Amino acid sequence: MPEPSHPEIRESVRRLCAEFPGPYWQDLDRSRTYPTAFVRTLTEAGFLSVLVPEEYGGAGLGLSAATAILEEIHRSGCNGGACHAQMYTMGTILKHGSADQKQRYLPSIASGALRLQAFGVTEPTSGTDTTRLKTFARRDGDDYVVNGQKIWISRAEHSDLMVLLVRTTPREDVAKSSDGMSVLLVDMRNAVGNGLTIRPIRTMLNHATTELFFDDLRVPAANLIGEEGKGFKYILDGMNAERILIASECIGDGRFFIDRAAAYASSREVFGRPIGENQGIQFPIARAHVQISAAAAMVDQAAAMFEAGEPCGTEANMSKMLASEASWYAADMCVQTHGGFGFAEEYDIERKFRETRLYQVAPISTNLILSHVATHVLKLPKSF
Ligand SMILES: Cc1cc2nc3c(=O)[nH]c(=O)nc-3n(C[C@H](O)[C@H](O)[C@H](O)COP(=O)(O)OP(=O)(O)OC[C@H]3O[C@@H](n4cnc5c(N)ncnc54)[C@H](O)[C@@H]3O)c2cc1C
Repeated sequence: MPEPSHPEIRESVRRLCAEFPGPYWQDLDRSRTYPTAFVRTLTEAGFLSVLVPEEYGGAGLGLSAATAILEEIHRSGCNGGACHAQMYTMGTILKHGSADQKQRYLPSIASGALRLQAFGVTEPTSGTDTTRLKTFARRDGDDYVVNGQKIWISRAEHSDLMVLLVRTTPREDVAKSSDGMSVLLVDMRNAVGNGLTIRPIRTMLNHATTELFFDDLRVPAANLIGEEGKGFKYILDGMNAERILIASECIGDGRFFIDRAAAYASSREVFGRPIGENQGIQFPIARAHVQISAAAAMVDQAAAMFEAGEPCGTEANMSKMLASEASWYAADMCVQTHGGFGFAEEYDIERKFRETRLYQVAPISTNLILSHVATHVLKLPKSF
């Protein structure tokens, strides 16, 4: 099997994560608190700005460096969900923003002075059917006036800026349903209390996710990214990076479960011998390794295509699906291997089990990936 890429980066991430062991995450999980110290340490070490080009103060590395970082964070038992979006959300400004917007925001995002890690797409009534989103931005002089609602917007309380997808032309008035949507960069520091209300949603994992209410929020027209009406395409561009990076988190989770299960199965003795001597215990661990290795190869392929600037929507989707299913299988296997101890908070397995379940639903659910493959790749008739 090929050696993992970016060995030095991986080693430094592992060293950093060792400062944030299980009890740190268990405490935060209990109180559903944001991992501020962990995120600050990652930011100061420069790991969240690796994708920002050097001219704007980042490391200018490719996506595979970011996948290595997130995989190691997750393999270490930590969780990158609190800050992974700081790595890639800036891609919308980088790819589609004006020269002025890039100069104004990217250097501060690279230094960590500005947090751009909120990404507002999902709405309660439209769900995955994004072109039916209803949040509307009406042009009024030098501003847009935004009204509507978003749901499941993660890290909104821990972000200075948010990339927001809105309608600027009603769906009925455009030729293609994906036309007429635009991307606005919202300065959360001015917005909260002035037309934006954030309401946290408590979930089965500690993910700082929220519901947003827009009530005549004024956003300067200067904060429009790219052209009005083309926003859907800009958002889709960024989603490929997101899916590949989330897939790498699943690979990290899967390896965490396999490491823990193999170690436990070798040391836990029942009936006078290590449980790992039983093939009923060994084989599921081996199967998890096979599945994670196959998914990791797909993630590497998708990341390489992304870095080469090739279209990689299908590969990004496929890698996210395979990795999220493989990490879930590994999670279940790890609980089973640990018997009762799999349920004990102090082992971190039940927490990681809850955390890795998310990725079959978000950022895109498995059925929607299968639908993409069925209709776009295999040319089966469309069902919607
Ligand atoms: C913890 C968390 C954090 C999140 N963070 C963010 C964020 O930061 N920003 C953001 O914009 N969104 C975020 N999301 C939203 C996430 O992307 C959506 O939940 C996800 O895309 C699924 O959309 P939905 O919940 O509206 O499900 P729905 O679209 O309502 O679908 C429900 C189920 O039905 C299935 N389904 C729907 N239509 C079909 C069909 N035609 N055929 C077959 N099956 C179908 C889906 O696959 C899914 O399993 C987050 C969600 C969670 C839970």
